[in-house]
Amino acid sequence: MAVTRTLSIIKPDATNRNLTGKINAKFEEAGLRIVAQKRIRLTKEQAGKFYEVHKERPFYDELTTFMSSAPVVVQVLEGENAVAENRRVMGATNPADADPGTIRKEFALSMGENSVHGSDSDENAAIEIAFFFADTEIVG
Ligand code: GDP
Repeated sequence: MAVTRTLSIIKPDATNRNLTGKINAKFEEAGLRIVAQKRIRLTKEQAGKFYEVHKERPFYDELTTFMSSAPVVVQVLEGENAVAENRRVMGATNPADADPGTIRKEFALSMGENSVHGSDSDENAAIEIAFFFADTEIVG
């Protein structure tokens, strides 16, 4: 299987509860390498642009308000089949449906405040990585 990259975001509910290290440990235990990482505070406008695909969804305003409510940690994860592997480690969107041992099962508060974002395809991973990082900031 090919070594690929994916974009991960540790969301405000998790940074508020000081869970960055515990979540990073989950990635590293699964063999994903954090090859870029920064803690930033998104504006509501930036969050809106990042989640533009959900613009017509009823939760769009709640989501972009939440994502700009406190710092996030944006990161590039690298590993074999990184998109799918990261989504396995994250668990289902709704923590009630997430498998035991996943980040969302252990840490998420609700469907909206679900601790992590992960790209859903290699194509979107490339777009999302470029949204936050220059090539020179990613060191594998
Ligand atoms: P993901 O790929 O597992 O993150 O899920 P989606 O792409 O479907 O949704 C993006 C994000 O929108 C989720 O991670 C949640 O934070 C949020 N979200 C999705 N569905 C709902 C919902 O029904 N209510 C609220 N408040 N937020 C939602």
